[in-house]
Amino acid sequence: MSKLTKTSAQLILRVAIDVPLYRLFDYLVPPEIDEELLQPGIRLEAPFGTGKKIAYLIETSRSSQIAPSKLKPILRILDDQPLLSADDMKLLLWSSQYYHHPLGEVIKTAFPAALRSGKPSALPVQNKYFSLTGSGLATAVESLKKSPRQQQALTYFQQYYPTALSEGQLVQWNKNWRSAVKSLMAKELLMVTDASPPELINTEVENAKPLINTDRLALQLNGEQQAAVATITGNLKKFAVFLLEGITGSGKTEVYMQTIRRVLERGQQVLVLVPEINLTPQLEARFRERFSVSMTLSHSNLTEKQRHGSWLSMQQGASSILLGTRSALFTPMPKPGLIILDEEHDTSFKQQEGFRFSARDVAIMRAKLLNIPVVLGSATPSLESLYNVQQQRYQLIVLKQRAGNAVEPRLLLMDIRNQKLHSGLSEPLIAEIRTVLGQGEQALLFINRRGFAPTLICHHCGWVARCRHCDANLVIHSQAKLLRCHHCGKEQRLLPDCPACNANQLTPLGLGTERVAETIQTLFPSQTVVRLDRDSTQRKGALEGYLAQINSGEANIIIGTQMLAKGHHFPNVTLVAIIDVDSGLFSIDYHATERLAQTIIQVAGRAGRGNKPGRVILQTRQPGHALLNTLINEGYSSFAANALTERKQALLPPYSYHALVRAQAGKNQLALDFLRTVAAMANQCAAKQTQILGPVPAPMEKRAGAFRYQLLLQSAKRSDLQNVLGMLIPQLETINGVKKIHWSVDVDPADLF
Ligand code: ADP
Ligand code: ZN
Ligand code: ZN
Repeated sequence: MSKLTKTSAQLILRVAIDVPLYRLFDYLVPPEIDEELLQPGIRLEAPFGTGKKIAYLIETSRSSQIAPSKLKPILRILDDQPLLSADDMKLLLWSSQYYHHPLGEVIKTAFPAALRSGKPSALPVQNKYFSLTGSGLATAVESLKKSPRQQQALTYFQQYYPTALSEGQLVQWNKNWRSAVKSLMAKELLMVTDASPPELINTEVENAKPLINTDRLALQLNGEQQAAVATITGNLKKFAVFLLEGITGSGKTEVYMQTIRRVLERGQQVLVLVPEINLTPQLEARFRERFSVSMTLSHSNLTEKQRHGSWLSMQQGASSILLGTRSALFTPMPKPGLIILDEEHDTSFKQQEGFRFSARDVAIMRAKLLNIPVVLGSATPSLESLYNVQQQRYQLIVLKQRAGNAVEPRLLLMDIRNQKLHSGLSEPLIAEIRTVLGQGEQALLFINRRGFAPTLICHHCGWVARCRHCDANLVIHSQAKLLRCHHCGKEQRLLPDCPACNANQLTPLGLGTERVAETIQTLFPSQTVVRLDRDSTQRKGALEGYLAQINSGEANIIIGTQMLAKGHHFPNVTLVAIIDVDSGLFSIDYHATERLAQTIIQVAGRAGRGNKPGRVILQTRQPGHALLNTLINEGYSSFAANALTERKQALLPPYSYHALVRAQAGKNQLALDFLRTVAAMANQCAAKQTQILGPVPAPMEKRAGAFRYQLLLQSAKRSDLQNVLGMLIPQLETINGVKKIHWSVDVDPADLF
C-alpha cells in the first residue's frame, strides 16, 4: 500500500468493523449528517462488500491513503452519543494492540449482542417497581404462613425496605414471583410505585438511601481482615493493585463486602469478576443480603435481553454493583470506583478463543486508565501475580487465619504403592471414609476426570477405542451407555464386543467419577452418594438440587471434579481425598505444576470449614515427590517460591514473555507449511532478543479432524516481543493460501495446548 497520504477537504471517518482484518476502514460523511455528532466511539452502519456492517468510529481525519473518489459514504449513524467512554475506547484500543487482535472484533466484545447488531441503545425499560405499603411494613410475616410463597415475598420486601424492587430484581429472586406479588397487592400489602431506578449518584452521604441492609449483618472483622480493609479503602482514589492472598475460609468475601460498602458510600460503582458462572449464585446471595443497592449480573446463563439490561443499567449508572464473568469486564461504568477479581489465579479468566485476552490483566489496565484500585483475591495466587508483588507492582495483603472458628485442614500424603485398590481407592482411605461417616460427618472425593473410565481396551487383542477425529481415546460413559470424545464431542454407542476380534473381553482402564461413585455406592450401600461433574449437573437446577442434598446432610459422600474445587462451602465435610494426585505430576506444559498445586490447595480448602477440623489425604505412588512434599509440609507460598525459582532458571514466564501462533487445517501439511512461512517472516522482524521456536506439532496433533501446529515466540522483554508481533501479525493475512488455514495468536498463553 502506498504510504502517500492524500489530503482532501472532505471529512474522512476511520472506523473499525467486526471482521477478522487488521486494518481500519475509511468512509465519507453523507451531507445530511451533522458533523458534531461524529464523536469517536459511536456506532455507524457502513456499506461493506455487497452488504452492510456495523462499524465503530475511531477517529475523523482530513486525509486518507485512498483517493476520496474511491471512498463510499456511511449509511447512517446509530448513536447520538458514544456509549463507551473515552477511557473505555482507550482500553479497547490497548487490548487490540496488546493481544494483536483486530480492533473491530475487540470493540464488539464490549457490547451486548443487540447493540452489536445495531439495535438502538435505549432498551425500553418497562420495569415496573413494587414497594411495601404502610400495612405491608407493619404486617408480621408469620401471619402469612398458610401461603409460603407470599410469606417469602413479604419477607423479601421487608428486608429491602425502603427500596422498591423492580420486576427484573424479582425475577432474580424467584422466577415465579408474579402470583405472590399479585396476591400481596390484592391484600394491599404491596403497591406499584413509579420509582425510577434507585438514584445511585449519592455524593452526599447524609441524603443517601441506606446502602447496607443492616449493619448487624456485617461481621466483626478479625485483625487481619481489618488491616486488609483499611489498606484498600485508604487508597480508593487512585490506581493500585492489591493482591489479597487469603487461605481458603479466611474471609476474603467479607473483606470484599466491607470494602465495597465504602465505595458505594462514595456513590461509585463496583465491578466484581468471578471465573465461573457456578460461583455467581453464592456471591450474589451474600451481596443481596448485605446491600440494598441495585445489583446486576452478567454471565452466559442469562438471556441476551437480561444481559443487555444489566449492561444498560451499569452504563446509565442505575446499578451500583455488577457481578459477572470474564465477558462483563468491558461493561461501561460512569462512576467507576473499584474492580474486584476473585480467584485471580483461575485460567477461566483467560479467553481461549477468538480475542484471547486475560480478564485479569485487562482489568488491571482498566483500573489504571480509570485511576481506581483493583483487588485480586486468591488462596493460591498465580505465579505472575506473586512475581509482580516481588517487583513491587502489586501490594500484597495476607490473611493467614481462617475466619470464625474454623482451622486450616491438615494435608497428608498416603503412599498407595503395593496397596490393594478398589477403583483407585486404597483400603486405608476407605477406612477413613468409614470413620468420618460414623461420626456423622461428610467425605469429599476428588477425581479430575468425568465419565466411567478414560480408556476401553480389548483384553483379548489389545484394540483400544480411539476417536476417529482426534489423537485421543474415547471415554467410557457407562450411565449414558456411550463412548465419548472429550475433545471434539463425538460419541457412539458403547460396544458389547471388540470390533477388531469380536471377543467379549472389552475392559475399562483407568478412573473417572462415575466409576468411583459406583464403587463407593457398593462399599457404602446405605449412603446417598452425590456426584458433581459437568455430566451430572447439565440439567438446569441439578447442581442446586445436589448442593441442597449435601447441605441438609441427606448425602454424605460427595464425588466430583474441578467443579468441587471452587467456592463451595460445605461446613460438615471433614475428610477430603484426592484419589489420583499423580496424574497431574507428569505434563509437558510448564504450567502444570502450578495448576496442580492450586487444585490441591483449593480442593483441600473444602475440608473443615465449619467447627470441626478437617483432614486431606492425597493418594500417591510418588511419596517422595519434591513438589508434593514442599506443598504439604511448607504450604503454597513455599511451593510458589520454589516454582518461581525454577521458572527463573529456565527463563520461563514470568521471567520471559511468550506468544503462541497456532495454526490448523484439514490437510496435514498446510498448517505446518503456513507456520514455516510465519517463522521465516518472524525471523526477518525479530531482533536476536526474540527466539522463534518451532513450528512443532501441537501436543494433540489431530483434533476434531484438523491437524494442528504451533510456533512459540519468546523474549526476555515484553516490549521486544510486542515489537515483533506488531510487525509480524498484520502480515499473516497476506500469506499465500491463508484462507485455508485457521490461525490465531495467543499473547501470554495460559497453556501450550
Ligand atoms: P474465603 O472467601 O476467604 O474463602 P469467606 O469470606 O467465604 O472466606 O469466609 C468463610 C466463612 O467465615 C464464612 O462463613 C464467613 O461468613 C465467615 N467469616 C468471615 N469473616 C468472619 C469474621 N470476621 N468473623 C466470623 N466469621 C467470619
Ligand atoms: Zn479384540
Ligand atoms: Zn474427538
